[in-house]
Amino acid sequence: MRTLALANGDAMPALGLGTWRAEPNAVGTAVRQALEMGYRHIDAAAIYGNEAEIGEALEQAFADGVVRREELWITSKLWSDCHAPQDVRPALERTLADLRLTALDLYLIHWPVVLRPGVQFPQSAADLVPLEQVPLAPTWAAMEDLQKAGLCRHIGVSNVSQAKLEALLEQARVVPAVNQVERHPFLQQPDLLTYCREKGITLTAYSPLGSGRHDQASPLLTDPVIASLAAERGISPAQLLLAWGMACGTVVIPKALGREHLTANLAAQDLELDGEAMAQLAALDRGERFVDGSFWFMPGSPYTAANLWDDPRAQ
Ligand code: NDP
Repeated sequence: MRTLALANGDAMPALGLGTWRAEPNAVGTAVRQALEMGYRHIDAAAIYGNEAEIGEALEQAFADGVVRREELWITSKLWSDCHAPQDVRPALERTLADLRLTALDLYLIHWPVVLRPGVQFPQSAADLVPLEQVPLAPTWAAMEDLQKAGLCRHIGVSNVSQAKLEALLEQARVVPAVNQVERHPFLQQPDLLTYCREKGITLTAYSPLGSGRHDQASPLLTDPVIASLAAERGISPAQLLLAWGMACGTVVIPKALGREHLTANLAAQDLELDGEAMAQLAALDRGERFVDGSFWFMPGSPYTAANLWDDPRAQ
């Protein structure tokens, strides 16, 4: 498995299996197939509602000798209704119980957004708590305690801008190992990538294929430049996108169900892209988010595109 060295020297598998919107009864099968094929990294989250099924698949795979726990990298994420420092450890303990693990390899603060306890998704502005009331720093201190307690090997953040990272680093004892953000040729985030690199924060690229759904193909996969670069090299557009993500020094976590997509995506770790392909892909950046955070924005919400992404151009 291709790996990427974290700032502390630990190796993180450069390609993992995403599990968002991997439906019940499908995700367990996908995880089992992926492990049998050689995937060694699973990206999970409490809010995806499928950690118990993933846990069952993991336990069965260990029992069947498919893989050993220590060969795997398992990430999960703290949901936004558990940012209060006293709620952080119970949230991780629920995730560990669901995944049937004693520790994670990486635990992330999922969003720099706070919900009232017990709220999964906000129905109205009253469900949202301003970040100033429960800032990232105390939540991060609770994450540091989890690492110290041996419940997760690494800790990190997700969907966090450079401005929020700068503020967090002023108070953090532990530098986040990872920032997991959306990244693909239409949203390359060069400044954030450079900043994270300088600080020793590895970037994981989520939605590396453009986050398509069954009923609608991602515009990345049908983009004419991507399609022709892939065809010229005898690979699929998805493989080109994943190879590009890894060539940029980021970890990629494509979600896939079914042997065909799983196999194709895993094979991308053996592909190297030439300078011509890299240059043409670099020119496709247009700042386009597929996961734009709009589920946090509603009349009266303390969160806006501009203050979530710390980008005055975002709306
Ligand atoms: P992806 O960009 O991974 O795209 C997934 C889609 O691409 C699915 O429809 C899938 O279809 C399809 N696909 C997979 N492989 C291929 C292939 N080889 N050829 C053609 N189509 C393919 O989207 P996600 O948004 O799911 O992002 C990946 C992961 O990142 C998530 O699952 C999650 O783990 C993480 N994530 C994290 C977020 C965060 O806030 N931290 C936000 C969003 C995602 P099929 O399922 O049928 O195989």
